[in-house]
Amino acid sequence: MTTSEFEITEILASYDSPPAFVWDEWYMGAGGRTIDIPAADEYMRRIKTEQYPRFEGEVSPEKQLNTPEDASKIIKQKALEFGADIVGICRIEPSDIYRGRSVKEEFAIAVGQRMKWSEFQQVPSDRSATECLRIYHSLGETVIELAQFIRSIGYACTVEHPVGDSNVLHIPIGLKAGFGELGRHGSIIHPKLGPLFRMGSVLTSLPMEIDHPIDAGIAKFCDKCRACRIYCPADAIGDERTPEAGKDHLGNDRYMVDTGKCFPYFAKHSYCSICLPVCVYNHKEWAKDFEGVPTKLFPEIDMQPAPHPVDSVAQGHKHRYPKVKRE
Ligand code: SF4
Ligand code: SF4
Repeated sequence: MTTSEFEITEILASYDSPPAFVWDEWYMGAGGRTIDIPAADEYMRRIKTEQYPRFEGEVSPEKQLNTPEDASKIIKQKALEFGADIVGICRIEPSDIYRGRSVKEEFAIAVGQRMKWSEFQQVPSDRSATECLRIYHSLGETVIELAQFIRSIGYACTVEHPVGDSNVLHIPIGLKAGFGELGRHGSIIHPKLGPLFRMGSVLTSLPMEIDHPIDAGIAKFCDKCRACRIYCPADAIGDERTPEAGKDHLGNDRYMVDTGKCFPYFAKHSYCSICLPVCVYNHKEWAKDFEGVPTKLFPEIDMQPAPHPVDSVAQGHKHRYPKVKRE
């Protein structure tokens, strides 16, 4: 028996969960927000003014009950109709929740949308930064519409937009929902889409059949390939797996990105993203555009000197991450 139909549960974050990101503190430590790209800013403006007010809604008093198997099929079909390229479902655990937070729902429905390979032909660039924001806006519409559908069949839910103050960690949820494996660069690699996609989710207690983590040999591939590490301009990606970085979903020690080196570069250079389009895993075919846009197999990379590392976020807000090749 699941608890969802009979009592309201609250899942508290694990004591060793990381704290939610305090972006303003991170930016302050890196010298402030200096990226100024009007097209990207416009997407952000629309996310805040047009999407944030649509997170809440009326829940229908009539529950339309299905078996968990049927409910899962219907929800996935709807997510695809609303624009998802991939969708998976997992049960929420305390380690999926940011420190000090809690959630009232039992399940997370993870949705992902691929980004356009044509916009990452030169990185970092205004085009690559704008594509990141375009996909956040597009994913926002998908999770909002999916939440409205779930409420229309009688179940409360919470929108976890890819931008903003989330209660849950998107990456562990995506891994448990079967989206792929954790790449050396710290992003999920999907067996077909590669790493060039972004995620959002909807939380609900509608009973559903869940998906499971996959082992498609991607983590093993990362052990031989080092493309992201070689091209990371901040030298923030590790050489070896390390117990200090924690475990991935298959129980392997993780590679870990040194956030204190990555963030200052990300904040100064169009949200960087170099590690995604240089990743060799599979997206050259699957993530390229089929819109008549000629694309190169490898992006043009603008590697600038790395700023000084920043670890200045207040103690209670700090994330634990191994420091990669710090002197
Ligand atoms: S976003 Fe850029 S700086 Fe950060 S890990 Fe990726 S390549 Fe390195
Ligand atoms: S570039 Fe290579 S090592 Fe890095 S995440 Fe992709 S497959 Fe793994």
